[in-house]
Amino acid sequence: MCERAAELGHSLLFPAICRYCGARIYLFATPEGGFAIFDDVGGDWPKHDCWGVHQAATHYTDLDPTFSRDYPFPVPAHAQHRTPTAGSGVVGTVLREDRPSRPGGLWESLIFDGTSVLRVAFADGQYVGRCIRGFVQLRHGQAVLTAVEVLSPPEPAAAGQRQRPTPTELTQLRASDLWTLQALANTLAATHPKPADTLRQALDAFLNGYTLTGVFFVARLLLTAPIPTSVKANLVRLTLVGLVDLKLHSVLPGLVARLSGGTIAALNSETRRSLDRATKLAELLKKHMGPQRLREALDRRFTKELRYFQRTEGPLVDEFKQFWQVT
Ligand SMILES: [Zn+2]
Repeated sequence: MCERAAELGHSLLFPAICRYCGARIYLFATPEGGFAIFDDVGGDWPKHDCWGVHQAATHYTDLDPTFSRDYPFPVPAHAQHRTPTAGSGVVGTVLREDRPSRPGGLWESLIFDGTSVLRVAFADGQYVGRCIRGFVQLRHGQAVLTAVEVLSPPEPAAAGQRQRPTPTELTQLRASDLWTLQALANTLAATHPKPADTLRQALDAFLNGYTLTGVFFVARLLLTAPIPTSVKANLVRLTLVGLVDLKLHSVLPGLVARLSGGTIAALNSETRRSLDRATKLAELLKKHMGPQRLREALDRRFTKELRYFQRTEGPLVDEFKQFWQVT
């Protein structure tokens, strides 16, 4: 989206259906790399927030990205074409427009409203890539959009999205950690294709805010995969940071106990120190918070992620549940 916005030379506001909750949403990207998801256009531009999308989301990946090749925009391949009814309001992004064949004629255009491609005409053009709204009038059997307005979030809403501290909800997981994950996956691809796939799944989960899922994949490799110890040492940091950020220290001692001596020995001093600190904190937390409250914190998050996991990783669901010991 940001690349497309850069090509257009202006921000791109594009309707879609949220892959998690099914609501109509508006994806917004600036040429500078800013990104936001809105519930609605206009008013106070409410940001979308549902069980799958966090308000501070800095990206959004369609689960089934089969886009139509007919447009230079992310229009689903199965989007229906239709002509809007007279009197109806239309909100959508202009995909294409044809210059009128005679002076004073109408611009015929295609607009995507998040579900369908609408055939409408308007009196003036130059709207490609703009999100517009207007009302439909029938003129000689043609749907003509009137009172056309170009929609764009106000500067503060857009500007607020320009700082991108981390690409995930985690505060300590650095962008460099994610690049490390990507690099490890590439390194392993030739010799260990399955673990490489698992690393990519972990990366995808972290980027989408499914941290338990990401940690699960990484920990699974740590504990079971026949991969080089140097790779495992790298994965310890990711697991550690994920758990600490989610305040799930309680899971750590059990996990550390299952790491091989070779992996522990291969850790760098910084990771080893963090691991010691976090393990001590886990024991303290257990003493002061009690297992009940620790459990609750984990369960809340688990419930949120289980649906995602079931949909994408069916065969591993039981292992995932067992790992987090929630039923
Ligand atoms: Zn949603």
